[in-house]
Amino acid sequence: MNTMPGRHFLQIPGPTNVPDRVLRAMDMPTMDHRGPEFQALGKRVLSGIRSIFQTENPVIIYPASGTGAWEAALANTLSPGDLVLMYESGQFAALWKKLAEKLGLRTEFISGDWRRAADPEAIAQRLNADKSHEIKAVCVVHNETSTGCVAPIPAIRRAINEAGHPALFLVDTISSLGSIDFRHDEWGVDVTVGGSQKGLMLPPGLSFNALSDKALEASKSARLARSYWDWEEMLVMNKNGFFPYTPATNLLYGLDTAIEMLLDEGLSRVFARHARHSEATRRAVEAWGLEVLCRDPAQHSGSLTAVLLPDGQDADQFRKVVLDHFNMSLGAGLGKVAGKVFRIGHLGDFNDLMLLGTLGGVEMGLDIAGVPHRPAGVRAAMDFLSGHRQSEGNGK
Ligand code: PLP
Repeated sequence: MNTMPGRHFLQIPGPTNVPDRVLRAMDMPTMDHRGPEFQALGKRVLSGIRSIFQTENPVIIYPASGTGAWEAALANTLSPGDLVLMYESGQFAALWKKLAEKLGLRTEFISGDWRRAADPEAIAQRLNADKSHEIKAVCVVHNETSTGCVAPIPAIRRAINEAGHPALFLVDTISSLGSIDFRHDEWGVDVTVGGSQKGLMLPPGLSFNALSDKALEASKSARLARSYWDWEEMLVMNKNGFFPYTPATNLLYGLDTAIEMLLDEGLSRVFARHARHSEATRRAVEAWGLEVLCRDPAQHSGSLTAVLLPDGQDADQFRKVVLDHFNMSLGAGLGKVAGKVFRIGHLGDFNDLMLLGTLGGVEMGLDIAGVPHRPAGVRAAMDFLSGHRQSEGNGK
């Protein structure tokens, strides 16, 4: 158990810091999940969550981590042996692919270098070649949490449309929902997968499927085995604010408050806040003389920044130094970039001074760990943040 005074800095890219207001909202007695008080809460969150996905369609809420919602998206829409096209954007794309194979789907991976997001042109090429429409779904990770690259979802939708391909479009927004603009309806996504523990500022334990009419239609003939994940019974019960099995009642109280907080701030302001912190972080990285993993400036993530350490430096050792000295958790490098990168989470309940504390901890950690760098990162971030404030002309 950590005995250091002061608050732990939780700067991994999720789970994120849970605001006190959300913690207080969850501090409630357990309740009758078939009673009228729950029904009112159920109706409120099932309606409110739609605004976060920017959809008019139903959103399913599971008492599960994001992996459950990955499984649900596939199990409700596909049949054994169906071919699914995926793009190797990083570790989470690789894990979703593995899960699909375990379910009895065939997968095809368009290979990527873990420094860019899913490429619409490569997807277009593959779909154009699939004259017999063997591919039943295209699965893309919107914000690849292992690399900090964001995929251009509208361009991928266009690629599917221009190929005249009937494949379903499934998108993972687990680390972008409530942090980076995502529009389920406008962008023509069939199933959007989300999770509670990142931009929604909740503890882990809830996950989501936002649906389209096409996805609902596909679910009628999809033959993969499903019971717990089945949309049908959920949708019937959800109509009255209830769930077919015991929902995570206290997390739903938290969700109710988190939705209110996000909508009060305004989604566009939330996205701009994270984009600004992301830019300040990249300025710090550049001033340290280090490299951001994501190579395409148009794809830089508002949720997190993955930082490459110079050859020969151990990123996990560096993270340990930061944790031991400053009581701050940074994200580990995952999969192919394990030990080479560390990740700074700047999503969720986060402000300028939390970012500067984070970057200060990183800069001091670089000193102590003996990682070659210029000690100019925090200054560069401060200049950007205060300059930006002055140009805004107010303190908001
Ligand atoms: N997809 C993405 C993009 C993620 O970042 C994560 C977790 O970090 C997952 C899927 C898996 O979600 P969970 O760990 O909640 O099961």
